[in-house]
Amino acid sequence: MRFRPDLFLRCARGRCPDCGAPEQLTGLATIRDRCTACGMVLRRREGFFLGAMVWNYGLTAFGLLPVLLVLRAYDWIGFAAAVWLAVAVILLVPWLIHGVAWRLWLGTYYAFLPEQLPSSGRRLDD
Ligand SMILES: [Zn+2]
Repeated sequence: MRFRPDLFLRCARGRCPDCGAPEQLTGLATIRDRCTACGMVLRRREGFFLGAMVWNYGLTAFGLLPVLLVLRAYDWIGFAAAVWLAVAVILLVPWLIHGVAWRLWLGTYYAFLPEQLPSSGRRLDD
């Protein structure tokens, strides 16, 4: 297994992992079901979304919530503000970064497993 950074960056920029067509992984909060250029299924079978959930949780829990802890630790915000901001982050951020999490997940998956791409022989409807 060899990591392919070009595939990771392609997905992170919102391009199709297989053909590289732009704007296939659209917006911050959305993702297409299939690539409109090559037909590759981007949302694969049940359970495939778990990788996107891991990215989403990781970015929220380890990227943003520590910022609130630091702000509170240095008394830059009060306790109540920290709690309300944490609740807002927990409720809003996962929804807002849904598409970004999918981009990073598809990039991670296909960068480590490029043989899973349809152009490498995998069925398109998988
Ligand atoms: Zn494509």
